[in-house]
Amino acid sequence: MASIESILTETRVFPPADAFARQANVSGMDGYEALCRQAESDYEGFWANLARQHIDWKKPFTRTLDESGAPFYKWFDDGELNVSYNCLDRHLASKGDKTALIFEADDGSVTQVTYKELHARVCQFANGLKSLGVEQGDRVIVYMPMSIEAVVAMQACARIGAIHSVVFGGFSAKSLFERIEDARAKVIVTADESLRGGKAVPLKHAVDEALAMGDTSCVERVVVYRRSGGDIAWGGRDLWWHELAQTQAETCEPVWVSAEHPLFILYTSGSTGKPKGVQHSTGGYLLGAMLSMLWVFDAKPDSDVYWCTADVGWITGHTYVAYGPLSLGMTEVIFEGIPTFPHAGRFWETVAKHKVTTFYTAPTAIRSLIKLGSDLPAQYDLSSLRLLGTVGEPINPEAWMWYQQVIGGGRCPVVDTWWQTETGSHMIAPLPGAVPTKPGSCTLPLPGIMAAITDEHGGPVEKGHGGFLVIQRPFPSQLRTLWGDPDRFRKTYFPEELGGKTYLAGDSAHRDDDGYFWIMGRIDDVLNVSGHRLGTMEIESALVANPRVAEAAVVGRPHEIKGEAVVAYVVLKGTRPVGEEAKKIVAELRDWVGKEIGPIAKPDEIRFGDNLPKTRSGKIMRRLLRAIAKGEEITQDVSTLENPAILDQLKEAVK
Ligand code: ATP
Ligand code: MG
Repeated sequence: MASIESILTETRVFPPADAFARQANVSGMDGYEALCRQAESDYEGFWANLARQHIDWKKPFTRTLDESGAPFYKWFDDGELNVSYNCLDRHLASKGDKTALIFEADDGSVTQVTYKELHARVCQFANGLKSLGVEQGDRVIVYMPMSIEAVVAMQACARIGAIHSVVFGGFSAKSLFERIEDARAKVIVTADESLRGGKAVPLKHAVDEALAMGDTSCVERVVVYRRSGGDIAWGGRDLWWHELAQTQAETCEPVWVSAEHPLFILYTSGSTGKPKGVQHSTGGYLLGAMLSMLWVFDAKPDSDVYWCTADVGWITGHTYVAYGPLSLGMTEVIFEGIPTFPHAGRFWETVAKHKVTTFYTAPTAIRSLIKLGSDLPAQYDLSSLRLLGTVGEPINPEAWMWYQQVIGGGRCPVVDTWWQTETGSHMIAPLPGAVPTKPGSCTLPLPGIMAAITDEHGGPVEKGHGGFLVIQRPFPSQLRTLWGDPDRFRKTYFPEELGGKTYLAGDSAHRDDDGYFWIMGRIDDVLNVSGHRLGTMEIESALVANPRVAEAAVVGRPHEIKGEAVVAYVVLKGTRPVGEEAKKIVAELRDWVGKEIGPIAKPDEIRFGDNLPKTRSGKIMRRLLRAIAKGEEITQDVSTLENPAILDQLKEAVK
């Protein structure tokens, strides 16, 4: 018995507005269902047509899907293409002078580049990499701040068939070392420092440290982009970006690669164990990026100003910053800073300044902005917005409502996009002109994505119950393997228990009567309370629905009688309560959860903090909170926490 009980009911439904539906790339449920039917009746034909329609192939493919080596699937593998050509060259004739990137720096200064300029810079850097001996298949680590140059570096690798592995600039030297070692990188591209919220973060210094940590003899050169001009140490393999690139030719013939050639490796955050080097393909990945831009973001290349706030260090910054928008010839904002610098209205000011139409961010950013109140966004002109997106964690229904009403003015569809580093592009998300949305649900799978919920043997789960979220057919943008570790790839994502061909996502979810998917949390986080298996998301959402509460995280702690007790960590909208006041609010919140979803979910204990511990990508670290709830010694790496002092607050029970 591994099904998970669903206890939260959410009944609000928001059908697409007529005006939006009329102009949408996919309009009405008929439009959506027609695409789904095409995929069901001729699965390979469906993908093959789309791949021919949207991608420029140097050599057309004749084979669509090769399942002979399952789960090592191949898509379009005898076709040849280049991603950088698809993102840049093919737009030059029609929109060479169009703005490709609007770079909004930490201090608010703005730099714009056109498609023509971006193409020239990518070619120069690609030629520079070639002059260093970088060849097709070589690995290049990109450890950069959010910048035009980060995108140039990634596109330049793609242009010459080198495999980039971007490491988030907030990661420590140790994490960087592990990734350099695992990927056996030939070149590292970095900057002297990055600037975040007015503070300099030493990147080059971290590279120097990483290179001293073990055998890094694979690394031949370190290319340094001068961002801040801060002091850095200089060694024999170091080389300035501008010195490398400025003398190079502004054209560079793309290297045409097989659709299955690895475009990049991206290590997942790896909260436990060795990080996993998720390896993506060229053709299938590009197709996933393009289709989801068109379907889920309803991309209108000629009129949209698109802004995804994710760092290029995450998959979101790959698919929805570095590749997706450029492949369609869009104008996009690239943001260096943080949401609250130099003031808490920075996001909304930036939307108004660049007349952003499409805004994509994470629930953590939304929740922290909710805490600051609704008056703040009201001070800015947000009327340019037409679509809002969210990714990274389940968005609690009340946070969704705030986003939809306060930021979207009730006018913009909200697309809650469920996907993962491993899936490469959106998997379950509303097509905004077609699928009615429900706060807290990522709604329905994209056409062609055969998502389902099963028990641990791959069998169906009872109605109203949750289970394992799986994808039952291979799809073009999925990971191809884990770099250098095919066994781990197979065991982690295609376990024998599910037949060896079904993709196991690692999240739990349930479906409602309309077939909508509701993510309940990660399988590892499921609680077992008196024989009831509960996802973390629903109890957290019930807490966030209380007007006092800004954020909540729920974990289990062993309990003699019940199996597990529910421990909730809560951040209130006001200040952190203590003493009698804290006790009063605990009682109130326990009652509230009892009434919202039932007595079984009532937290046994509630603790208050000014904030919650998050990963660098903004996800709540429930594993860490579990250790704190048990009173265990903390063994996790907490060096990357923005504010480690909150851990002491969270260790304190309300007495
Ligand atoms: P690691 O695998 O190393 O622990 P990670 O899973 O946090 O890292 P990502 O691939 O960036 O790294 O995140 C994917 C996960 O994020 C999903 O499996 C899911 O748990 C969560 N997630 C992403 N988007 C959504 C969403 N819209 N709704 C609910 N959960 C989401
Ligand atoms: Mg994951």
